[in-house]
Amino acid sequence: MGDDHAKFHEFLQRMVKETHNRSGFNREEYVALVNEISDYYGITKGVTEFYINVDRERKGDGETFCDVDRPGADKLAMEIRIETATKAVVKGLLYVPEDRADFTEQEKNELDLLLGLILSFLSRIRLVRTVEQFVFTDDDGYPNFRAFARHIIMKNETRSLPDMLAVHLDLHNFSMVNQEVGRENGNMVMRNFYLTIKKIAGEEGFVGRLGGDKFLGLFPPQAEKELLEVLSGTPIFYSDGGDRKIIVSASAGIFRIPEGFVFRHRGDIMEKTMVASAVAKRSEEGAIVFYDDKLLSMNERVKWVQSQFRMALTAEEFKVFYQPKVNVETCEIVGAEALCRWFHEGRMIPPLEFIPILEQNMDICDLDFYMLEHVCRDIRRRRDEGRHVVRVSVNLSRKHLVDVDLQQHIMEIIDRYEIPHNLIEIELTETTTDVHFRDLKQVVNDLQAEGVSMAVDDFGIGYSSLNLIREIPWDVLKIDRCFLPVDEEHSDSITSVMFKHVVSLAQDLGIECVVEGVETKKQVEMLRSNLCNIAQGFYFDRPLPAEDFERKLDLGNYD
Ligand code: C2E
Ligand code: MG
Ligand code: MG
Repeated sequence: MGDDHAKFHEFLQRMVKETHNRSGFNREEYVALVNEISDYYGITKGVTEFYINVDRERKGDGETFCDVDRPGADKLAMEIRIETATKAVVKGLLYVPEDRADFTEQEKNELDLLLGLILSFLSRIRLVRTVEQFVFTDDDGYPNFRAFARHIIMKNETRSLPDMLAVHLDLHNFSMVNQEVGRENGNMVMRNFYLTIKKIAGEEGFVGRLGGDKFLGLFPPQAEKELLEVLSGTPIFYSDGGDRKIIVSASAGIFRIPEGFVFRHRGDIMEKTMVASAVAKRSEEGAIVFYDDKLLSMNERVKWVQSQFRMALTAEEFKVFYQPKVNVETCEIVGAEALCRWFHEGRMIPPLEFIPILEQNMDICDLDFYMLEHVCRDIRRRRDEGRHVVRVSVNLSRKHLVDVDLQQHIMEIIDRYEIPHNLIEIELTETTTDVHFRDLKQVVNDLQAEGVSMAVDDFGIGYSSLNLIREIPWDVLKIDRCFLPVDEEHSDSITSVMFKHVVSLAQDLGIECVVEGVETKKQVEMLRSNLCNIAQGFYFDRPLPAEDFERKLDLGNYD
């Protein structure tokens, strides 16, 4: 058996060649060699074990590979153990049939060398795998950003990027999912969601996790429809039996890689998906936005507004414009709405270009307080001059609802200018969630108790529910112009009928009714015939600079 030196040397040479093969590892030849060696020494079973460290070895927590396994009762004939430089442990165990004589010293020496070679080779392969795992997966075992980057670089090399969809997605409200199903189930939801979209990405595509509830993916064009369906909301299982599920949706930014796209750096693609994703996140919940070059300039505008805001506030670049509210019977100015305009370097920036951006953080709150303060200052001045004043409404963003000191803050400003409380009205828009609804109710009650008038703005767009007017005792209902029939409309059109009924509902409930966006004489007449007497709109005036408005107010009416 093992007493032929020549045979051992041949094995040794071949083994060195196999395990140090520079042109790559040939698995078949290696296995054949291991089998020959086993035959030669009469080994029936060869086992290798791999442990990340000594501690894991003690607990028996490692990986076991059985390289040779033949029938026959086995006894352990030899065991060798190596601790690598990185403190990993590799073990080799050789078994022989019960009735075989023990290995001779010479056989032991030979096998020690051969097995040592095998083990150091295996641990090297294993180490590469461990390093690979470490570099390309995150702590929870998901492929990470580097893995994604490696995939797109590979795809780029084979020129197969065009038409693919690069996607940056953000699970919607995942903290709520965790709250609802518990953290552990939440992890399962996340994993199953990942597996769902990974399946859609298929062999050609790729999905990795950026961290938290954010994923990055590359999808083939034919997967688009299915992907969009899943992102808009899909049931995800989170129990072993598959009987418990929860709907998961995501907002996403998608970049469809065009033909001829020049790929210079892995960040090129990432950046585009992130820009689109940021826009998606800012828009309604769960939105999906496809990248185009316009978005980039939009993103730059967001950054510009946010960086300029504080300076503009200090420099008083924001001006209050007043839009009169007019009694349609008497044509008298009965009130006004304060609307913000931003004057920057000789240019006027309309509110829709900066208010939604300021609403992305709490900046809007400072602007609203600034507006209120300027309105109070104007009223104070007019009163001191002995001129006529009317009630002015100020818009308050919904962002204020979380401010527990809101009431004090508002009252402090009004009282500092010693303005009678009933000269101020606060406009709030309707809200969609229960939590906000509670806060909204509280804010309305608090301010009403101070004698401030409370108005619900833009009634009729979004998710107006009758609950909003049943549960909250508004003083004023501002009907959005989408409820206002246009001139060509018949009196029995849906809009006309709804308009009539909303107005009479408000009247029956004793809520003052203001119609926004009144542009034509016919619309004014329609208001009159429906006994709704307050109009605000271009028909009478656009929002006016303070001086212009005050001149009109001195005249008092539009006759
Ligand atoms: P809003 O509070 O519903 O204000 C009414 C908007 O309708 C104003 O737009 C006004 O100019 C416009 N409007 C009035 N009459 C007509 C009409 O006859 N036809 C048409 N087509 N439009 C009319 P504006 O001034 O551009 O403001 C847009 C929105 O920006 C406001 O809607 C409000 O939500 C917000 N906003 C303006 N100023 C402030 C502010 O100081 N704070 C907050 N939080 N939001 C503000
Ligand atoms: Mg308003
Ligand atoms: Mg409005």
